[in-house]
Amino acid sequence: NISKHNDPKKDAILPGVKNTIAVASGKGGVGKSTVAVNLAVALAKDGAKVGLIDADIYGPSVPLMLGVKDKPKVYQAENSVRMLPLENYGVKFISIGVLVDDKAPIIWRGPMASGAIKQFMTDVEWGELDYLIFDLPPGTGDIQLTLVQTIPLTGAVIVTTPQEVSLIDARKALMMFNRVNVPVLGVIENMSYFIAPDTGKKYDIFGSGGGERISNELKVEFLGGIPIDPRIREGGDNGIPMVYDQPDSEYAKIMMDISRKLT
Ligand code: ADP
Repeated sequence: NISKHNDPKKDAILPGVKNTIAVASGKGGVGKSTVAVNLAVALAKDGAKVGLIDADIYGPSVPLMLGVKDKPKVYQAENSVRMLPLENYGVKFISIGVLVDDKAPIIWRGPMASGAIKQFMTDVEWGELDYLIFDLPPGTGDIQLTLVQTIPLTGAVIVTTPQEVSLIDARKALMMFNRVNVPVLGVIENMSYFIAPDTGKKYDIFGSGGGERISNELKVEFLGGIPIDPRIREGGDNGIPMVYDQPDSEYAKIMMDISRKLT
């Protein structure tokens, strides 16, 4: 339970925001952004005021996953430029993907990337939020370290698949948060299993039990395992999050359950 966590650093930068949660992974492609988006939608469905910062600066996928192609409104305030967040499915968000040409690569040095994310906190009109979620870039490099030291985080959630190569890097991500004293709120295992729609048979495509194993080993909560479902990929590509579109699916139920464990 992370509610009503007071952090002076956060209150200075994001005074209207109650909780800040980073969604992180060791490796790319494990479903971190999909989890961040569906988690945000799940929290909003339960009535929370939710914002999402796409901090995955070199691979911003939040605008696509939330089905928004608009540009944010920018206006001149007294002595700074302010930006209104975009919004869909009850989630306010900002992403570098809506500010730059999405067909051109973002070629930035670390400090520029960190600077952009700081601006996402300081220059965007977030207003009052119960949760501000950060979709972090994958890995434990310089950018991630700078970010987790500057973003005033309430806590972090680690996404991994059950596969050993993913677990090795998830463990490193977890240790990075430990080192900078950011509480790890738990581990989510994505792509845990696949249930064949025709036979109902369960397949552990990437192995099983890995997420739970590293949670036990590093003494953090195991938040749950999410199945592989082609509709998750379709929902992501079409900008209609599964939690919103298929509320009765196993996936949506598990995501709602995970989001409630965080509140
Ligand atoms: P990351 O942010 O870790 O790089 P993404 O969230 O972009 O990963 O997911 C990578 C790809 O896998 C996307 O195409 C996404 O739609 C798909 N995906 C993620 N989770 C699942 C899942 N549980 N079942 C099926 N496809 C998934």
